[in-house]
Amino acid sequence: MAVSNQTQNKAYASMMIVIAASVHVAIGLYFLFIQIPLMVWISVFDLAVYAVTFLINRAGNTRLSSFILVIKVTSFAVLSTFLFGTNVNAQWVVIGAALPAALYLDFTKIQRIWILAFMAVAVNVQLAFPFMFVPPLYMPDDAILPFFFGNIAFFAFIVSVATNAIITHRLTAAQAKEVEGFKQASVTDPLTQISNRRYAEIFFNNLTAQHKAAPFVFAMMDIDDFKQVNDTYGHDVGDAVLAAVADILRQNTRQEDLLCRWGGEEFLIGLPGCNQEVAKRVLEKIRKNVEEIRIDTESGIIGVTVTIGASLLVGNDIKATLQVCDKNLYAGKWDGKNQTVF
Ligand code: GH3
Ligand code: MG
Ligand code: MG
Repeated sequence: MAVSNQTQNKAYASMMIVIAASVHVAIGLYFLFIQIPLMVWISVFDLAVYAVTFLINRAGNTRLSSFILVIKVTSFAVLSTFLFGTNVNAQWVVIGAALPAALYLDFTKIQRIWILAFMAVAVNVQLAFPFMFVPPLYMPDDAILPFFFGNIAFFAFIVSVATNAIITHRLTAAQAKEVEGFKQASVTDPLTQISNRRYAEIFFNNLTAQHKAAPFVFAMMDIDDFKQVNDTYGHDVGDAVLAAVADILRQNTRQEDLLCRWGGEEFLIGLPGCNQEVAKRVLEKIRKNVEEIRIDTESGIIGVTVTIGASLLVGNDIKATLQVCDKNLYAGKWDGKNQTVF
């Protein structure tokens, strides 16, 4: 799989350029040692090209630096074969070093096809050289050069493939994490950090699919006279109240309970495995804790109350159950608010 993220592409290109440059340092030193100045100068030139290529990538043009890298590696192989002949194994460098770069670096499909065609031609041209001329620096007795180029090709291949695998694996893990974050955000209310209505729908579907015999209680909770809070103290205070009420819900419920911001200042609570008696206790505790909330405002400390309408799940029909909750909620509002009605 090709790396498909700009930062990762850039990191991969940088790594390939650094590897190629390091190899050229080794090549340069070896030719210095065996005293072939032409190759030393070629290596110095190549190092300069790689330095520029590295900077081009650093500056953000990964595509251009990737092109230079692939073409540079391939042409170096062709030049080496031209000078020394096929017995030094330089043609393998195209397959070992340039091929992974062509496959893994960030190119368009068409560009990749052209690059691969270019490389195929380069390999064939090199294989044809021995039939055309005697290489100018032909060294049939040198045992090191074939070893040298062969190993460059082999290890470049291994390192490129392994690096790509690691980067791709990291990218996939990072993407999976990001998707999980988006998923979580899509079912969370940003103000209160409890579930939103979209999550409630998922919760309902799961619940209906389970056909559990265990009792289940739903409760609709609405903040009393909330409009007045907003009108008197401002929207920010209203938001703070909403967040504080959500905190109370979190503190008084279990992991498996449903906590959902159903609408503006209305919360839906779902209590699996609770009978009426237990649910009443939980909901009353929530109601009393909300009563104790204290919010600092510019005009002093204020408090709020909530009215709760609850119902046991009737016949696995969530819609009908929520209608009963609503009916009970309004009964509680009519009866003076700040109470739980079952
Ligand atoms: P009741 O006791 O009958 O429930 O009266 P109420 O004032 O709470 O009811 P009403 O439905 O008239 O007012 C709800 C208010 O909630 C109106 C709206 O401005 C406010 N509201 C809804 N969503 C938000 C929000 O996200 N932030 C803030 N600050 N206010 C909100
Ligand atoms: Mg309301
Ligand atoms: Mg209200």
